[in-house]
Amino acid sequence: MPKVKHRHSKARGRKRRTHYKATAPAMVKCTQCGKLKKSHEICPHCGYYDGRQVKRIETIEERKAKREKKQKRS
Ligand SMILES: [Zn+2]
Repeated sequence: MPKVKHRHSKARGRKRRTHYKATAPAMVKCTQCGKLKKSHEICPHCGYYDGRQVKRIETIEERKAKREKKQKRS
């Protein structure tokens, strides 16, 4: 393990960390619905990947119905 020889100021460490930045994810157009999605991931809008449906995406109405059902129970 490397050993720290000298203490340095908070500012010095913070100055170094100003270069740590999050980069924007690579976005591509979905071939199915044309909306922007992350590359190499299932489309969150239509659930398609590589030209076939992998995941079922609930419509807004379905989500609403589910939510109301949940509220009735509690
Ligand atoms: Zn899509």
